[in-house]
Amino acid sequence: MRKALIAANWKCHGSSAKVDEYAAVLEHSLKTEVVVFPPAVFVPRYAAFSDGRSDCGVQDLGVAESGAHTGEISGDMVLEVGGRWAILGHSERRQNQKETDALVAAKLAATVNAGLLPILCIGETEQQRDRGEALVVVERQLRSALAGVDGLPVVLGAIAYEPIWAIGTGQTATPQQAQDMHAGIRAVLQSLDVDAAMATRIIYGGSVNADNAAGLFAQPDIDGALVGGASLQLDTFTRIIAASA
Ligand code: PEP
Repeated sequence: MRKALIAANWKCHGSSAKVDEYAAVLEHSLKTEVVVFPPAVFVPRYAAFSDGRSDCGVQDLGVAESGAHTGEISGDMVLEVGGRWAILGHSERRQNQKETDALVAAKLAATVNAGLLPILCIGETEQQRDRGEALVVVERQLRSALAGVDGLPVVLGAIAYEPIWAIGTGQTATPQQAQDMHAGIRAVLQSLDVDAAMATRIIYGGSVNADNAAGLFAQPDIDGALVGGASLQLDTFTRIIAASA
């Protein structure tokens, strides 16, 4: 049985006060693991205040362990301040920072090698979906990212299917659309390792809110959510968590 994973991606939002508010309230349960991704500067504060009741991590990770890489953060540094997770390959970074499949693969390898848990984001554009290429694109992103690591390291973390047309748009994939893609992703994983594929959480991201969460979580291959905008209100986020239990 896969434990649900509900993750909050704050993007470039938040403050110390918001960290304290969330870290004081959020907690893992028997059925659900909860992870908050505030901007990296707030990770130490979140980790200290939550004291393990919920987890936190970074929204991106540098490839290098150390060295002359201005602005980058390494996995060891994240671990040292109490972060346990890293998001890799978010579509905003693929688009805005021009991150390629190869760079995402290197970041996934750096994450795993450091001992952090990855959430690997994959997803197609609206045009790619309209052309019937959604699964091809997602499979290419997935295989490319996993090519640089041994086995299926996502087993302990997650893969996030995030159709780009649904991110921040209010236009959620229907539960059936999301389920179809999640089943396709799991089939790709099964071609690599059957047991690990069944243990890997595949979470959905794209305009999840308190009203549509339960319908998505009722699908057999949707194991949780990566939540952007709706995670910025604590009461909304806690309702999404409750829908997964
Ligand atoms: C995201 O950015 O990962 C995301 C899913 O955003 P939103 O929930 O706002 O669509």
